[in-house]
Amino acid sequence: MSGFAADAMETIFALATGGSRAAVAVLRISGPGARRMVEGLAGALPPPRQARLARLRDPVSGETLDRALLLWFPGPRSYTGEDLAELHLHGGPAVIAGVAEALVAHGARPAVPGEFTRRAFLNGKLDLTEAEGVADLIAAETAAQRRQALRQAEGALARLTNGWAARLASLLAQQEAAIEFADEDLPTDLGDRARDGARALAAEIAAHLEDGRQGERLREGLLVAIIGAPNVGKSSLLNALVGREAAIVSTRAGTTRDVIEARLDLRGVPVTLADTAGLREADSDEIEAEGVRRALRRAEQADLLLAVFTADAAPDPATLDLLARRDGREAVVVANKVDLAAGPPAIGGLPALQVSARTGQGLDALHQRLAAEAATRVGQGATAVLTRPRHRAALNEAAAWLREAEAAPLPELTAEALRAALHALGRLTGRVGVEEILDRVFADFCIGK
Ligand code: GDP
Repeated sequence: MSGFAADAMETIFALATGGSRAAVAVLRISGPGARRMVEGLAGALPPPRQARLARLRDPVSGETLDRALLLWFPGPRSYTGEDLAELHLHGGPAVIAGVAEALVAHGARPAVPGEFTRRAFLNGKLDLTEAEGVADLIAAETAAQRRQALRQAEGALARLTNGWAARLASLLAQQEAAIEFADEDLPTDLGDRARDGARALAAEIAAHLEDGRQGERLREGLLVAIIGAPNVGKSSLLNALVGREAAIVSTRAGTTRDVIEARLDLRGVPVTLADTAGLREADSDEIEAEGVRRALRRAEQADLLLAVFTADAAPDPATLDLLARRDGREAVVVANKVDLAAGPPAIGGLPALQVSARTGQGLDALHQRLAAEAATRVGQGATAVLTRPRHRAALNEAAAWLREAEAAPLPELTAEALRAALHALGRLTGRVGVEEILDRVFADFCIGK
């Protein structure tokens, strides 16, 4: 913690835009020296929050480094809460390097990753959940992820948590008053009221915890494992599905015996499609055996199984077996190669979609089915507020303490548990200081004295 104060004395800079060559590169400078440094580079600052074209000069040689657009955000009304300037440079590497060297000559240093947002957090511009939302927004690959991240960056989870924390603090205040002034003329049911409130709050938090992990799933993306015997057409189906998707985000290639993964944007839901090595006994071939092991592991992690059989042969037992052992997870079954033979209407007790990776028959239906399955697992980013295991852990802890508070046999223990619940909520936002919130609540809590 002691490092923070010293850090905040330093003026930092970083490219806010991507590293590759571009027409424009935005460089941000934040900290107490920002004014002096930008004046040193550009001569004078524009009025706050107004753009001005400026000639940037090397502090030593006086040589012009660039003609750039300059924006000035005096603290605290800036992203970090500190004095902050934005230089919209021409995006070439020599321009960026020249301006960076000039800033270093003026005493600035390059920021470490996340440092601008960390300063924003420390200066109270956003809380931890909002900072996470900003990170998620930058990482968002699909529309549904973007919606979810934006809601969080705009404080959806923070508001919910702060509302709970405020109620909890007033319950705690009532409980403490009941203990403190037990002999005096206070309403005698204060303790009961605190316990009732704890029960109601625990139920409300529990309702949010029962969201099917939609937010986390959307944030991470769904994993769909394609399973099936060799040569049933798994790779062909993956290619066909990926080929009809406009937005392929990335592809991780392995050998044909490894797991090959492709990212798809299935109507806003990010899906990783993993083509696993063919499932068969393979003791004779070390590499293939390893491929099968990885395939099985991937299938175990998957949110959804896509089981592929061929229409022109009997279903293979290994895939049927895996399908049977899928532990309640959904599976989509396809009979591929229906151009060669009519497939059975059901395989392994599940309806089989009739498809042909070769002719394209049934691929629209398969695509729609996968998109629908994906959508039911993550929603569309409009509802879930918990997006990380960290959120879930903190709320689980808060709910557990609230139940403890309700059941506690002594008023002092109820107060202890309420206080612990408040701490758990405080850790979620990184904001709620328990004593501080208690001070506030006590300040307008009439104890009749
Ligand atoms: P994988 O081992 O399960 O990944 O199977 P592949 O995708 O490599 O396909 C195995 C063979 O089946 C290849 O020769 C494909 O061209 C062929 N194949 C895949 N899908 C179809 C299909 O729908 N119809 C026909 N006739 N052949 C297919």
